[in-house]
Amino acid sequence: MEKLNGGCYCGAIRYQITSLPTWAAHCHCRSCQMALGGAFLTWAKVAAGDFEVTKGKIKTIQKTPSITRGFCGDCGTTLTYDSKTEVEGQDFGAGDWFAASTLDDPSIVKPMSHVFVSHQQPWIKLADNLPTLSEF
Ligand SMILES: [Zn+2]
Ligand SMILES: [Zn+2]
Repeated sequence: MEKLNGGCYCGAIRYQITSLPTWAAHCHCRSCQMALGGAFLTWAKVAAGDFEVTKGKIKTIQKTPSITRGFCGDCGTTLTYDSKTEVEGQDFGAGDWFAASTLDDPSIVKPMSHVFVSHQQPWIKLADNLPTLSEF
């Protein structure tokens, strides 16, 4: 596969993925809303090790012990998510998660669902007919 690149808003962080995402979803949880400064965050996942930083160093924050969020320390762009929580049957923790919209070509991502719609803002109206999960 051709390597796909992405990075943060200011360009200090660049990364590549070496496989296509196996999963993607829009997360409406309050933590993603706050971390992004947006209404929801579209996450994509590649196989573990297939997300590589090629420029700069991702800064991390661990507000909750089991969740590490990665971002650019210069411009603040949310880039990665790492959870130690295994959700039964969901393969939740495996793989490398990254913010789909930070790809140079985000259109390659195919979101499969909306998760944490229990936190969805009332001014966001969903019309894409994707499955919605109250939590995850
Ligand atoms: Zn940046
Ligand atoms: Zn979330």
